[in-house]
Amino acid sequence: MSLPGTAAAAPAPLSGPGATLRWLGVAGWELSANGRRVLFDPYLSRMEYRVPGGSAINERGRLALRPDLVDRTITEAPELIMVSHGHWDHVADVPHLLARFPAARVVCGRSTAFLLEAWDVPRTRMIVVRGGENLEFGGLSVQVVPSLHSMTAEHAYLLPGELSAKPRPPRTLGELVEGETFAFQVGFGTREVLLFGATNYAERELAGLTPDVLVASMTSWKPVHAYPARLVRALGSPPLTVASHHDDMITSLDSPDLPATINTAGPAAFRTEVAAAGLVTNVHEPTHRKPFTV
Ligand SMILES: [Zn+2]
Ligand SMILES: [Zn+2]
Repeated sequence: MSLPGTAAAAPAPLSGPGATLRWLGVAGWELSANGRRVLFDPYLSRMEYRVPGGSAINERGRLALRPDLVDRTITEAPELIMVSHGHWDHVADVPHLLARFPAARVVCGRSTAFLLEAWDVPRTRMIVVRGGENLEFGGLSVQVVPSLHSMTAEHAYLLPGELSAKPRPPRTLGELVEGETFAFQVGFGTREVLLFGATNYAERELAGLTPDVLVASMTSWKPVHAYPARLVRALGSPPLTVASHHDDMITSLDSPDLPATINTAGPAAFRTEVAAAGLVTNVHEPTHRKPFTV
């Protein structure tokens, strides 16, 4: 048993054939193993989202999608695309990906399904979930975990709202409301990878989950009590935690300035808080588009 503040032993390395993860920027991931491939929150357009001269979200900002950027980075067909919630930086490129890969299906909540319908995605392409499902795809499983969105420093939700009917085709960032927020634990037989698209969680919903790899959102968690320690403890100290959602969301993926836009303070603070609680997980800081196997 380790005491708070003491260094505990390093977690045992994972053994057996692994899964390959590739960070697509923002909260987006491509996961593959055993010939299977899935996407989580793929967002490559990296549109300007701020009010002119400020840092707040410009709700009236026009959606200016860049399918060329999507196609440059995602070249192999996924069988599933999981969407954590309805915000532009998680869902906006999904209709293009579904059009490009006709065998792929999207896993999303009810509100996000209405958004996708407004973009002419047929219901047959959607697996609409409520949270709590553990879906089997013949050697690939997807557990849907009810979760929570990040908050501002004033404990407010960003672009909240739920759709209960198909809206008009979205034209602005503000029309892409959060809806429900889910995390997804993907099982490839040899590895369980739990992915979050926002920086919060409902702790009781994590009971019993022991993923090999935790992909943790690392935008500011200031309004959330003990965000890193409660998360790592609830998940039984996953051997590996991978930082996510910690770039500037705008700079192009092929810009030489991209590495400097990554917020390294988030993962550093995560490590410090986890260690201070006497818990252990290796925190990995990924490089955009560079695959790694776990
Ligand atoms: Zn969001
Ligand atoms: Zn986001």
